[in-house]
Amino acid sequence: MLRSVFLFLAGQQQIFKFVRNNRLAKSFADRFVAGETVDTALTAVAKLKARRITASLDLLGESVHNEAEANAAGEAYVAILDRIHEQKADANVSVKLTAMGLDISEDLCVTIMHKILERARDYGSFVRIDMESSEYTQRTLDLFERRLYPAYPRNVGIVLQSYLFRAFADVERAILIKARVRLCKGAYKEPETVAYPDKKDVDASYIRCMHELMLHGNYPGIATHDETIITEAKRFAKANDIAPDRYEFQMLYGVRRDLQDELIREGYRMRVYVPFGTQWYPYLMRRLAERPANVAFLTGNLFKEMVGKRRR
Ligand SMILES: Cc1cc2nc3c(=O)[nH]c(=O)nc-3n(C[C@H](O)[C@H](O)[C@H](O)COP(=O)(O)OP(=O)(O)OC[C@H]3O[C@@H](n4cnc5c(N)ncnc54)[C@H](O)[C@@H]3O)c2cc1C
Repeated sequence: MLRSVFLFLAGQQQIFKFVRNNRLAKSFADRFVAGETVDTALTAVAKLKARRITASLDLLGESVHNEAEANAAGEAYVAILDRIHEQKADANVSVKLTAMGLDISEDLCVTIMHKILERARDYGSFVRIDMESSEYTQRTLDLFERRLYPAYPRNVGIVLQSYLFRAFADVERAILIKARVRLCKGAYKEPETVAYPDKKDVDASYIRCMHELMLHGNYPGIATHDETIITEAKRFAKANDIAPDRYEFQMLYGVRRDLQDELIREGYRMRVYVPFGTQWYPYLMRRLAERPANVAFLTGNLFKEMVGKRRR
């Protein structure tokens, strides 16, 4: 119920206008978002590097409304790749196709993605195409396989979501074409016609896809904070002689830092997804939807602030 409310709120841009300059909302955002500029994001990347963790930078911003906005978002990503290269930062980037104009025109989106991917190729870097809601799944995978991956096989990869019924078939396809996959559970509100409504089914699908990717995939990213699944990944790797440099664990900025450090200490690879930018509201709502404790954290801060004001 609460999950549905936050996923609904994630789509309400009017509310974002209202909370955009709210101090409390911003301080909560700081926990999950690495500031609003590329400089604050690179500072976060440097701190991760000190913990031997790599990063994937995500400039927050979902659907754009016109060609100029899409081009600007594309140029921003090219500039981010330049900055990563200049600073020798240990980071790649994550991109949403709707932010690159997918809803305006597929050709526009492809033109922008080629500019980003050319720069990534020049630097030997990597661009992960985030997966959005299920209305975009087929279009994203088609565009990836037909129009981006053939030209930049080493520099671009996709994300697959285990909550979708189709996930395993998509994993098999990715393995066949040797594409790099990040596997996650999926963060959007989906109808029961396309996605498992129950967590146990989402988790079972995740484990099935993960085993297949670990055995046959191209350097999969195991993106989860779920300790049971992480324990299973470690067990499965040992049982099948899969070395820790053949895959990486991935987590979100600000989530389970203890577990991130523990995995590093144990000799595993860890990449943290580092979102930044002014458009943090939908991202934050999805994080609230994932974990009721985050809501308690937010309301706890609100309460402390109210008490503080009364005392002043
Ligand atoms: C690197 C990365 C990239 C991602 N990219 C995408 C993408 O492209 N498309 C997409 O749809 N989704 C993406 N996601 C989000 C993902 O789909 C899930 O919504 C999210 O990771 C929560 O699922 P979980 O696997 O951690 O398991 P869950 O079963 O949701 O959580 C397991 C445990 O992890 C902890 N936890 C989980 N989330 C939080 C949180 N927000 N705050 C605090 N603790 C938490 C809790 O202790 C929870 O009990 C990504 C996730 C990661 C880690």
